[in-house]
Amino acid sequence: MTPLGRRLAAEIAERGPIGVDRYMAECVAAYYAGRDPFGRGGDFTTAPEISQMFGEIIGLWMADLWDRAGRPARVNLVELGPGRGTLMADLLRAARALPAFAEAIRVHFVETSPALRAAQAERVPAAAWHDDLAEVPQGAPLLVVANEFFDALPIRQEVRVDGVWQQRRIGVSTDAFVFTPEGDEIRETAPARTEYAGALAFRIAADGGAALLIDYGYEGPAEGDSLQALAAHAAADPLAAPGEHDLTAHVDFAALAEAARAAGAQVSPLALQGPFLLALGIEARVERLSRGLDPEARHAIAGAIRRLTLPQAMGSLFKVLAFTHTDWPEPAGFGA
Ligand code: SAH
Repeated sequence: MTPLGRRLAAEIAERGPIGVDRYMAECVAAYYAGRDPFGRGGDFTTAPEISQMFGEIIGLWMADLWDRAGRPARVNLVELGPGRGTLMADLLRAARALPAFAEAIRVHFVETSPALRAAQAERVPAAAWHDDLAEVPQGAPLLVVANEFFDALPIRQEVRVDGVWQQRRIGVSTDAFVFTPEGDEIRETAPARTEYAGALAFRIAADGGAALLIDYGYEGPAEGDSLQALAAHAAADPLAAPGEHDLTAHVDFAALAEAARAAGAQVSPLALQGPFLLALGIEARVERLSRGLDPEARHAIAGAIRRLTLPQAMGSLFKVLAFTHTDWPEPAGFGA
């Protein structure tokens, strides 16, 4: 068993099975605390690690919105769960195209992993770090980006046993973790996610600004069990080796949108990542980046844009949702 596995097994032996939410939160915290899991040699690859264009496009999205909002003199630029800091480094480079915007922003990272904070400090040394959004200073508009952050926040599961919905829990049987009780149907909720979305929207409603959430999931709850583990780019058993695999679950964007509206923010329609990036001109960026490059480098850039935008790659599974202050202009990329 892993160190976290031993700790959870001892707790279960003493007090009984734990909820899927508790298990997931512990696994995610232990997993990220001590490692950088991104890229080819790691467990999975995220959009900013595929291409610099991803962060650049988000930087231009923000600069445009800030410009149309009347160029507020000071903005807190917040990233939730920044991973290696790659998205922010690319975003800041693109933001320099509008020097007044680059001048107005202060970067805040909300990150709980010590290992990833160190990686982020190498790429964005001038950032300030926080454990929670609540610690980001108040009183200035916020521009927030969260890529594959909500999918890492814990879900709860319920299982239907003889027609009655019960909380699905995790126990131990002969030295292995098992789900309990057994039933014929599973459904998911994610109070930790809706609370986070509500708190984020509440801050935007109070201070002004906007948030851009990008994640994999649907407009509604997952059909059944969506808890998944990834190790070395392949599916793994979520109950094997707690804390050693990446655990995520589908994001229910309808639930996040509802929480944000209830907290007083304006919510965009849900966009697909592919059409969103194309609407913001990623093809023009490909064109510019490719100029003067050799065929191999051009080929790599063309491959990256396909991976980010094509429906059979990340273009449809990944969705984009924006929250804005009701006085702020409509964000670009969400259609008419
Ligand atoms: N946005 C990055 C990383 C996504 S992985 C990218 O796209 O590459 C999830 C990130 O969220 C990691 O940085 C992880 O350490 C962080 N994280 C997970 N749970 C968190 C929590 N509750 N509070 C703050 N950060 C968290």
